[in-house]
Amino acid sequence: MTSPDGNEDWFRDLAFAAADLLVTIDAQGVVLRADGDASMLHHPSAERLIGKNALELISEGDSRRLRDDLWALGPGRRLAWDDILEIEGQRRILVQRDPRQTETFNLLVSRTPRTNRIRANRADDILVERFRDAVMNGRLKAALQPVVETRTGAVSHHEVLARFDGEESPVNLITAAERSGQICHLDYIMIDAGAHRLAQNPDPSFRLAVNISGESLQRYEVVEELCAVIAGHAFGRTRMIVEITESAEIEDIEMAARGVNKLRSSGVSVSLDDFGAGAASFNYLRALDVDGLKFDGSFLTSSPENSRNSALMRSIARMCLELGIASVGERVETEQDRKALQYAGVRFAQGYLFGTPEIYEGFFSRRRPGLRGVA
Ligand code: C2E
Ligand code: CA
Ligand code: CA
Repeated sequence: MTSPDGNEDWFRDLAFAAADLLVTIDAQGVVLRADGDASMLHHPSAERLIGKNALELISEGDSRRLRDDLWALGPGRRLAWDDILEIEGQRRILVQRDPRQTETFNLLVSRTPRTNRIRANRADDILVERFRDAVMNGRLKAALQPVVETRTGAVSHHEVLARFDGEESPVNLITAAERSGQICHLDYIMIDAGAHRLAQNPDPSFRLAVNISGESLQRYEVVEELCAVIAGHAFGRTRMIVEITESAEIEDIEMAARGVNKLRSSGVSVSLDDFGAGAASFNYLRALDVDGLKFDGSFLTSSPENSRNSALMRSIARMCLELGIASVGERVETEQDRKALQYAGVRFAQGYLFGTPEIYEGFFSRRRPGLRGVA
């Protein structure tokens, strides 16, 4: 099977890198518009899909069947099935005939994650649906929280935290998206919008830490895509810190190490979030060549006076100094917390004592809205 210009491999690679793809096609499968999910993902090459044949992405038998079935679909009706590929795993394909422009069809290809994490239950499905809806329909905001020098309180940079309309905390949607392998969508958007804001505001003291999930870090094609997104913006690379969250969940440490190196080679700093939350944190630090780590908030909140915690923090902070990496303490709520960090030698601090996360209006102002009402 070849695409119109014979460049089949390139097209397939591109589609898989996108992880999820939503395009408008004609009845032959030719891509007419790629401004739905594809641009929601800020896929830098989304428009290059136009004119390609999207049916090339689907296994041969299914694509032949689909070609026959397209015209049989009534306006607004959908077809959905799972496409099992030997190499790449499984993908869900959904095609809908446009209710108004009946010559066109919306095609959604969503890849299920390589690891066999089957959706736990219906409740999880609903959360994932809410996540996708918020991300696709722009019901997403960003809050910025300062990270300061522990000793002086001087602002070092701000962390960008996702906020979903109608949700008190982002945690439920984010963890459901991680479990279902969809978190990369948010990570693309946050990195792209963060890089755009840095390019818009050249003040060197304006620096941002953006979170990406450990789940994305273990998918090399996602990391390559994140680097391509960064490469599309002009800003001093040292002004961006990428925090790897859920680092307690990293399973494929070799792949994660490749991901860290790839991100760092693009010039940004990489920091390990939630350090100490899981038993394997030290292994990660040994394997991942990061620029910094952030202590898990439990170091302060579990019991600030706990001498074990403070001894651990002190020795980890010291190790960071020796490794030449920066350490940050979070959930600093009281002056006592700040003192504990200072005493332990943790250079940076973040928490309500210095500033709560504040919504940054217009953080995503550059985004075009995604296609509505599909999938
Ligand atoms: P995190 O990266 O560890 O972020 C710090 C969390 O601590 C944030 O919760 C923040 O609002 C909260 N926090 C800040 N200061 C204090 C304090 O003094 N006391 C207490 N008790 N909490 C404080 P939030 O915003 O609910 O985010 C929760 C988690 O969701 C984040 O934990 C991160 O793992 C994830 N997350 C948030 N935004 C993004 C994102 O854009 N992308 C990804 N992949 N994950 C994100
Ligand atoms: Ca973080
Ligand atoms: Ca954290």
